[in-house]
Amino acid sequence: MKVLVAVKRVVDYNVKVRVKSDNTAVETANVKMSMNPFDEIAIEEAVRLKEKGVVTEIIAVSCGVTQCQETLRTAMAIGADRGILVECIDELQPLAVAKLLKALVDKEQPGLIILGKQAIDDDCNQTGQMLAALADLPQVTCASKVEVADGKASVTREVDGGAETLSVTLPAVITADLRLNEPRYVTLPNIMKAKKKPLEILKPADLGVDVAPRIKTLKVSEPPKRSAGIKVPDVATLVAKLKNEAKVI
Ligand code: AMP
Repeated sequence: MKVLVAVKRVVDYNVKVRVKSDNTAVETANVKMSMNPFDEIAIEEAVRLKEKGVVTEIIAVSCGVTQCQETLRTAMAIGADRGILVECIDELQPLAVAKLLKALVDKEQPGLIILGKQAIDDDCNQTGQMLAALADLPQVTCASKVEVADGKASVTREVDGGAETLSVTLPAVITADLRLNEPRYVTLPNIMKAKKKPLEILKPADLGVDVAPRIKTLKVSEPPKRSAGIKVPDVATLVAKLKNEAKVI
């Protein structure tokens, strides 16, 4: 069975995100970029399924600028067999990515498609759901455990106050949550091996997809600055301030 995994290049999770001075977007120039953390978990899960003998081939897909090739190489160093870059310099919104992935699902016919539950840059949490709808496939979001057997996936997901386990018939779309697994460290030999793995580059037009944005960003702004804290000399002053100034007790 083939697995398709979507990996997005985003601002590294350790970087303090800054807004561009013209308030149009987040600053990405000269900023460290990495694979979206949930997508690393998605790739790791695919690799574990391959190690269990359930999966035969892992295809990593990234949509975006040329540098997304680095993200694909990381995916291949974790264990993906090949990569596909859908190259596009324009902004790609979740609907556009979902359409591109749907076209690749039609082309590659994977038995399973794994995405991250959300991209940490736009926090949309939409692409997996949109893909499942467009491709008319069953979906389970926010997976914390995945077991594949007999053409079905049994997927546990965290819900308020507990966990629920769902069974879906394959092919299906699964989105990965934080507790699904802990991705392995990428080793140097695997980074070297990944350089030799096949990486196909396509354009949205090759897949017949119109990626024009459907949503217009009006303004991006930083959260209001927190005012500086103060030190109080003793507990009595603290209690007095909480009572009289903050009025919380
Ligand atoms: P989002 O709906 O934007 O929060 O993204 C959810 C998931 O969709 C991500 O974790 C990725 O697996 C996938 N995804 C979103 N955008 C892209 C992209 N440009 N290239 C590849 N995968 C993407």
